[in-house]
Amino acid sequence: LLDALADQAALAIERIQLVADVDRARLAAEADRLRSALLTSISHDLKTPLAAILGAAGTLRDYLDSMSQEDRVDLLSTVIDESERLNRFIANLLDMTKIESGAMEPNYALHYPGDIAGSALRRAEKILAHHKTVVTIPADLPMVRVDPVLFEQVLFNLLDNAAKYAPQGSSIRIDGWADGYNVMIQVSDKGPGIPPADVDRVFDTFYRVRKGDQVRAGTGLGLSICRGFVEAMGGTITAANRSDRSGAVFTIRLPKPNEIQKLDELQ
Ligand code: ADP
Repeated sequence: LLDALADQAALAIERIQLVADVDRARLAAEADRLRSALLTSISHDLKTPLAAILGAAGTLRDYLDSMSQEDRVDLLSTVIDESERLNRFIANLLDMTKIESGAMEPNYALHYPGDIAGSALRRAEKILAHHKTVVTIPADLPMVRVDPVLFEQVLFNLLDNAAKYAPQGSSIRIDGWADGYNVMIQVSDKGPGIPPADVDRVFDTFYRVRKGDQVRAGTGLGLSICRGFVEAMGGTITAANRSDRSGAVFTIRLPKPNEIQKLDELQ
């Protein structure tokens, strides 16, 4: 009987090893596929603005003398805008690397959410020029324990997306409120919203919602950075659609610091 059991055990182990081998091979193939998709996506995001910069700079050099002042300014604006886009993309990649390697060292302090929303709005002023912004963050909303730079970046990314995906002239809101344990900050817009099947996947690195066959412009990094930053600060971020399906709603939930923490930090 013992021999039979041992045989069976050996057989089972062999089978498990076989399954493990197949799994390992499948995982390695999946990692390879992801790596090459990532490289394609990064190369594309670097090449598109670079091509525009090279094109504009080349035209400027070749036709500088015969060109009107207005055309020169136009081409230089392209060079500046596209360089800024490259800059943002590279900053995003660096942020992502920091999150993934666990090298982030948030600089925590107590802040009023309204103050940070204010600086994010100031930074996004140009981007939001064609939308109406509505801000309802009560001045007496409790302070939250955050890294102000990271938190501002999260709000900025959400505002940037709202401006990108919601039609010009529509309103973009930032609302704040609190319950017993948490402070909530919500950014919502009146754009197309997010297909229900994608509401969680939009936070995945490089994930973009497909519309027909076309992927909308963007890097697919903004929201994964938001989630990485918010989670690093002990909070959560979720996506949803307005109940009447007329726009996207992003909700950040940050724990209220307890009284002892507050006393420690305010001293
Ligand atoms: P991207 O650079 O593509 O905007 P993000 O990570 O910021 O990358 O967003 C991921 C995807 O989530 C976007 O490609 C878009 O499809 C969807 N998305 C993000 N914000 C909104 C929004 N406010 N309204 C509709 N869709 C959105």
